[in-house]
Amino acid sequence: MFRAISRRLAILNALVVIAVIAIVGVASYFYLAQRIETQTNMELRSRSASAVELWTNVFAQADANNASGTPSALADGKRGTNDDDDEDDDREEENEHQARELLRSGDTIAYGVDLDGNIISTLRPIEIEHLPREDSIERALQGEVVLETAIVEHERVRLRTEPVYADGRIIGAIQVGMGLGPNERLLEFVRWSTIGGLLLGVLLAVPAGWWLANRSMRPIREAFARQRSFVADAAHELRTPLTLIRAEAEYMQQTPELALSDRHESETAIVREVDSMANLVSSLLTLARMDEHATQFLGKQVDLSGICCRGAERFQSLAADRNISLELDANIPVTVSCDADATEQVLAILLDNAIAYTPNGGRVLVRTSMRAGKAVIEVSDTGIGISAEDQRRIFDRFYRADPARSRSSGGAGLGLSIATELMAAQRGSILVTSEFGSGSTFTLLFDTLQGHH
Ligand code: ADP
Repeated sequence: MFRAISRRLAILNALVVIAVIAIVGVASYFYLAQRIETQTNMELRSRSASAVELWTNVFAQADANNASGTPSALADGKRGTNDDDDEDDDREEENEHQARELLRSGDTIAYGVDLDGNIISTLRPIEIEHLPREDSIERALQGEVVLETAIVEHERVRLRTEPVYADGRIIGAIQVGMGLGPNERLLEFVRWSTIGGLLLGVLLAVPAGWWLANRSMRPIREAFARQRSFVADAAHELRTPLTLIRAEAEYMQQTPELALSDRHESETAIVREVDSMANLVSSLLTLARMDEHATQFLGKQVDLSGICCRGAERFQSLAADRNISLELDANIPVTVSCDADATEQVLAILLDNAIAYTPNGGRVLVRTSMRAGKAVIEVSDTGIGISAEDQRRIFDRFYRADPARSRSSGGAGLGLSIATELMAAQRGSILVTSEFGSGSTFTLLFDTLQGHH
């Protein structure tokens, strides 16, 4: 189950990472493309304006020639003869190479054209096939401004063609262009970075997500395992008294001729087991409630000595029954911020144990004091004691140092774990010191409000 959740979390994590990279990548790609286009258009516009300025005279001359009917000299030269020499071929090849380089470099190209469509001026002495574009020139001569992207020599070129005016009259047109190569290479870089980032994201996010999910799942897994064993233990504990009750009941059922005294014995046993089950169930309820709410008590000022007096009083008759002397050393008030009910409950658990695990004729002492800025309740007994190994485990749920003995005293091994949680909920703690065979001391520590050190 946890494996499936981990996997789902890892995939989710990867998807989020991929989505973020994709969104950022695509957004920056389109933003950049947009910026480049606007900038290129602006650049072309200003280049075109400078070319018009630079060629004012050339255009004026062409206009004058046009008026007088003399064809343009440059146009004549350009569109003139074609000597088919080897040398010419070489030059053509060289020219083509230069043209491609020029377009690829992203430098500006510019043509001035007269009213007849003849080239009267160029920015560079390099001929480029299909340039200037004649249909755009024609449209410009009609007064249109044409913006377009054309493919020339396998390079994408942005072109701007516009009419040139003198005295409010069109006297020619100008076409400026710019290879988009460098910008497109930049865009391509962004594109490939995004794709690379996506691949890397997938490669890293899946294992990273898996690792993270497993890590954050560990406490849940442990809590789940604890809960599961808790339920198993609880069921087991409940089955024992049930088995005994059933056995006694069956015995009475199958033996109608049972003597009154025997019947009474069986009934007593059943009542004892039912009591033990009731105890167990109420302990389970306490624990379940504390687990559910992660109880955190609001501290009120409480006198621990008072609580100990009342506790000792309640257990006096039980101790007397077992011939155990229960003594109290709580003369000075010890006031601390804690929960009175919870503290009473903890004290009852400790006194119950102390009396249960102390042989006849023994002694149990309840003492309050202040120690190193902490308020202290100590419950010590002269009982059977707890081995060092058991001392570490008696606070675990369902743990009993000596199950047989413990069961006969009615405990299911939950008392001390409830006490631990009640103390933790009051920001206090519980400690044990014990000498196996000669007695134990349980110590409750409460932080005082003043917080001495
Ligand atoms: P139980 O219901 O069995 O008393 P607890 O959680 O209160 O469960 O105690 C756990 C175990 O710790 C007991 O079974 C017992 O073995 C041991 N223990 C607790 N208090 C004492 C004590 N005062 N003297 C000796 N052993 C004790």
